[in-house]
This record gives sequence, C-alpha cells and structure tokens, in this order.
Amino acid sequence: MSAIFRRLTLIGLGLIGSSIAHAARRGGLADEIVGYARSPETRETAAKLGFLDRVADSPAEAVDGADCVILCIPVGAIGTVTEQIAGSLASGAILSDVGSVKSSVIEQALPHMPDHAILIPAHPIAGTEESGPESGFAELFDGRWCILTPLADNDPAAVARLRAFWEGLGSHVDTMDAAHHDRVLAVTSHVPHLIAYSIVGTASDLETVAESEVVKYSASGFRDFTRIAASDPTMWRDVFLHNREATLEVLGRVTEDLFALQRAIRWGDGDMLFERFTETRAIRRGIVEAGQDTARPDFGRGKSTES
Ligand code: NAP
Repeated sequence: MSAIFRRLTLIGLGLIGSSIAHAARRGGLADEIVGYARSPETRETAAKLGFLDRVADSPAEAVDGADCVILCIPVGAIGTVTEQIAGSLASGAILSDVGSVKSSVIEQALPHMPDHAILIPAHPIAGTEESGPESGFAELFDGRWCILTPLADNDPAAVARLRAFWEGLGSHVDTMDAAHHDRVLAVTSHVPHLIAYSIVGTASDLETVAESEVVKYSASGFRDFTRIAASDPTMWRDVFLHNREATLEVLGRVTEDLFALQRAIRWGDGDMLFERFTETRAIRRGIVEAGQDTARPDFGRGKSTES
C-alpha cells in the first residue's frame, strides 16, 4: 500500500501508540513516523526498540509538519495535551486519538483546536491487559473494529483518509456519533471491566476463603476475570470518570438483572436460569462466528486482544 500520510506523529508510546507504529510501518502507511512520550524512560525505550523513525524531545517538536497526529494517551489527559500541541499543528493536519470514550475527548479537545486543523476522534476496539512501549505488536488491529466518531463539520475527504489509514492497520472501520459510541462501549466493555474489577476484589476480600485458596483453586471463570481486572488502572480510572452517565445507566440495568437471577436461585426457578444461560450461549457463538474470538479454550492464558 502507498503511504497515506507524509509524517505521522504518535503522542503516547504505550501499547496502542507502539502498536500503531508497528502496524503503520508494516503497511507502509506513512513516509515518516515520529513519536513522543512524556517520560524520558519511555522515549528511550521507544528509541531502543526502533519502531519509530524519530523520537521528538517535546510535544510541539513532535507534531511540527505532521499531516496526522494521533493522541495515544489516557482519556483524562486529552485536554491538556491538545492545548500543548494546538499552536504547532500544521495547516490541514488531522488530529485524532484512540481513547476508549469519545464524547469527553471531543469536549476536552475542541476548545483548543485551531481552525486550520481537523479533529476526528477514533477508538480501536483492540487491546490487551499489557501496557507500555514494549507491549505493542503489528497484528493488534488485524480483523478488529475501529470506530470513528467524526464531527458534523468534518471534511469527508479527511475522514476517508483516516478510515483508509485504519484499514491499512488491519482494522474494519465503522462510523457513529460519539454519544452512541459511549453507550455501546459501556455495554460491551466498560461495565464488564467494572464487574471484573469488583468480583476479583470481592473474592480476595471474602473472610471465608483464604487469599491463597483464591489463587490455588482459581477456576476458569475467576481466572478470566483476573485477566481483565489486571488492565491498566490509569486508563480504566479515566474511562469511568469520563463515561459516567452511560456506565451508571448500564450498571443500573445489570444490577436489576443480577437481582432477577438471585431471585431465581432463591426460589429454585431452574427454567428461568436455563433460559437465560441458553440465550447467553448463543451470543458467545455469534461472537465466535463473527471472527471476533476463537472457540479454542485458553482460560486466560493466551495473548488476548479484546479490550
Ligand atoms: P499505555 O500502554 O499505558 O500508554 C499510555 C501512554 O500515555 C504512555 O506513553 C504514557 O506516557 C502516556 N501518558 C500517560 N499519562 C499521560 C499524561 N497525563 N499526559 C501525557 N501522556 C500520558 O496505555 P494504552 O493501553 O496504550 O492506552 C492509551 C489509550 O488507548 C487510552 O486512552 C485508552 O483508553 C485507549 N485504548 C486502550 C486499549 C487497551 O486495551 N489498552 C484499547 C483501546 C483503546 P509514559 O510512558 O511516559 O508514562
């Protein structure tokens, strides 16, 4: 594939930033890939690993002359970093991101955007529980979805260019408005993570089961939850603080449904339990058939790409 961008700049060089760099290089999607991270340690590691053409010393230097800048940082840092780079964005540059929440990203970034640059938020539905520049790999986005949430006044040609870029990284691409994205992801990702954080915490707090027993006898259900609950605390703190309304709404529904299951167990309503578990089994089959997971059991031990 021929290059889509002359100079691609990645701000934030953790799992997602480094994976974009690896995949963009694999696909020949940019003539030059420049990167910046706030800590000297991450910049040094990135330079050593060699997935960038150049590591910049400041955010302003990093975005200078770039026709696409992607912020690969926690959602809570978007406003501050956009303010830092806004004055250095080139004319016609696309500013995008990879944050797991979209309405908040727009609210934080838009007030700082210069008229000559274009904000197009994006969210790759791909990840692992690992973080940092060493965790990235070129195949992370292969066959996964990336959701673009363009703004009403976005130039369609710029949106098409960003779409082509994500397709070049290996993704399928969808577009939707930011509020809808945030509701969908609350159901498919944010609340499931919250439940995992909660259940793993509860299991280790229960006085009747020793912590050593939780580890020793961990069955596949608990092990799968611990994998999710090992996800980056900063990233997930920001997700819940910035997708507050949708998370609380979905959590309310989940709580009601849990009470219904609790009631069925209490009253011995096996039919209700069987019906519910049959429905959920069909959803799992649908995910496997859509190529978003394999039927192979791995009990949380393999490299997973489903955040
Ligand atoms: P990561 O591996 O922890 O990397 C985060 C990067 O952001 C690091 O380079 C870090 O810099 C930088 N950073 C952290 N706090 C910052 C701040 N306050 N100001 C400026 N830079 C800061 O995280 P990640 O998994 O790549 O996640 C990045 C984004 O991708 C998040 O918005 C997340 O919601 C989204 N996302 C993640 C996943 C996933 O599964 N991980 C999936 C889809 C989308 P230092 O290294 O210098 O500390």
